[in-house]
Amino acid sequence: MIVIAIDGHSSCGKSTMAKELAKQIGYTYIDSGAMYRAVTLYCLQNGLFVDNQLNLDALKKDIQNIHISFVNNPLTGRADTCLNGKNVEKEIRSMAIAEKVSLIAAVGFVREALVRQQQALGVAKGIVMDGRDIGTVVFPDAELKIFVTASPEIRAQRRLEELVAKGEPTSFESVLHNLTERDRIDSTRKDGPLKQAADAIVLDNSDLTIAEQNQQLLALFKSKAE
Ligand code: C5P
Repeated sequence: MIVIAIDGHSSCGKSTMAKELAKQIGYTYIDSGAMYRAVTLYCLQNGLFVDNQLNLDALKKDIQNIHISFVNNPLTGRADTCLNGKNVEKEIRSMAIAEKVSLIAAVGFVREALVRQQQALGVAKGIVMDGRDIGTVVFPDAELKIFVTASPEIRAQRRLEELVAKGEPTSFESVLHNLTERDRIDSTRKDGPLKQAADAIVLDNSDLTIAEQNQQLLALFKSKAE
């Protein structure tokens, strides 16, 4: 068994492709972004944002009490994210969380705590994890590293359709602004910035269907695992 690290820009379908690949090859899928989203939800729910400013001292005190776990959802067949035992899968996907998550993900002690948990989840290998720093920081020795990207406009259009389908209508412009802003913050932060690992394979899926992309991933997996 191997470790598969999938990193890349915001909203380029990393989790869709990682989930599908994991299912096909019988590996465990871990969505590391969900963990940063859950910490963001905790901060919003516990008044750690005051006038849009994050109370870093309070978060530092609380970080040891923020427990994130995953539980299988029999309806979707996928893992839902839990924050301190409560299923928060729906809440963490909202625009309110998307607007704040990159600020939380830039905090060094938050990254340290989550990276440690992510590494523990991968010790037995047989894992597909997606995020921003998986191939560079979390699993620098991963056997297969993919860096996914697509044009910002295509990503914004796909994300908009997802939000509308979920009953959270918003505008193309605000989705585009959110994802380019997240990419900017993620790429320029000091700790674990979003960047392509030197040994990652780039996958630009702007013009690929999900099925085509999946075929490419399976072929890459076979070339590394066999
Ligand atoms: O993958 P997703 O878009 O759900 O991630 C939400 C946010 O979490 C990203 O925009 C990024 O700020 C942060 N993140 C991160 N490192 C990861 C995964 C996500 O900084 N490994």
